[in-house]
Amino acid sequence: MNQRRKMPKSLYAMKPNELLGALHLEKPFQGRQIYRWLTRGIVDYEKMTDLSKTLRSELQESMPSVLSTTVLTHQEDETGAIKIALRLHDGLIIEAVLLTDDKGRSTACLSSQVGCAMGCTFCRTATMGLERNLQAFEIVEQFVHLLHIDPSVSHIVFMGMGEPMANFDEVIKAISFLHDSDGFNIGYRRITISTCGLVPGIKALGELNLPIKLAVSLVAADDKLRTLLMPVNKAYPLTEVKEALVGYQATVQKRFTLEYVMLKEQNTSYEDATKLASFIRGLDVMVNLIPWNPAAELAWETPTAKEISRFTKALEQMGVPYTRRHARGKGVNGACGQLAVQARGRNTQ
Ligand code: SF4
Repeated sequence: MNQRRKMPKSLYAMKPNELLGALHLEKPFQGRQIYRWLTRGIVDYEKMTDLSKTLRSELQESMPSVLSTTVLTHQEDETGAIKIALRLHDGLIIEAVLLTDDKGRSTACLSSQVGCAMGCTFCRTATMGLERNLQAFEIVEQFVHLLHIDPSVSHIVFMGMGEPMANFDEVIKAISFLHDSDGFNIGYRRITISTCGLVPGIKALGELNLPIKLAVSLVAADDKLRTLLMPVNKAYPLTEVKEALVGYQATVQKRFTLEYVMLKEQNTSYEDATKLASFIRGLDVMVNLIPWNPAAELAWETPTAKEISRFTKALEQMGVPYTRRHARGKGVNGACGQLAVQARGRNTQ
């Protein structure tokens, strides 16, 4: 290999033949060897024992790190949720979270953008604005860092920073890398994309017709209230979101989730339940109720237990299928809607 040539920022999210080109290697099997190590989470050339010593030291010299990101901080709370902050190659910072459920199943919650432009009023990430989209390798690297913490991580959700549908191509590229059966082999059914309701993204995902799980953050089934809480509703009002979801389900034929963040005295009345019941008519959905996770800089409040119980009773009466998400990660500000960093500075926690 010629060490003076330009090297990539990361060796992740590349197929074996792309590795070959990027590293200026000549023998096709070397690309496959490196790919195999990378997709076992091995990032140290010295541990890539089937590469020749010469190649290992050439790689070490020309590209000292296979990763473009470094872990800045690592925090854990009493639920076992672990949040890491990562510094990107340009100095920006993102966060990713590892969540373990009661059955011991580990899920990587990944970011798709640095910050977010969607402006949801109940979300800390929105306060950052959008810095930039992440590239596929930066998405995959979040998974790799979490894998180093827990080698059993088996599920992925795109519910970290950013709107994945606004960075659709890079998110799908990262997913296809993570899914490859010769690599990390994460089944599509174990991957969830969450969107605030970007209609073109829902349509594009439907067109791919892959069994990737979809979650749509609804939060209110009334246009006026939803626009107040989620400005994206101005561009894509409820009728358009529903139309896209009906189309999506006609193609993918898969139940999806509607996320419903509950805000005290805002979206939990009997009337709100009625509107929600009417919105889901004709759709095969599970409503995921999420009591709002407090964030000091935002003015909303978490509903009381009584308020939640009144709302869930109303949903039951109306035959709305729902689950209640148990907040994990609250202690590290890693729960839903709580991720935020000063993009170029310190982690805000
Ligand atoms: S909830 Fe999601 S889409 Fe909305 S601002 Fe936060 S990160 Fe962006």
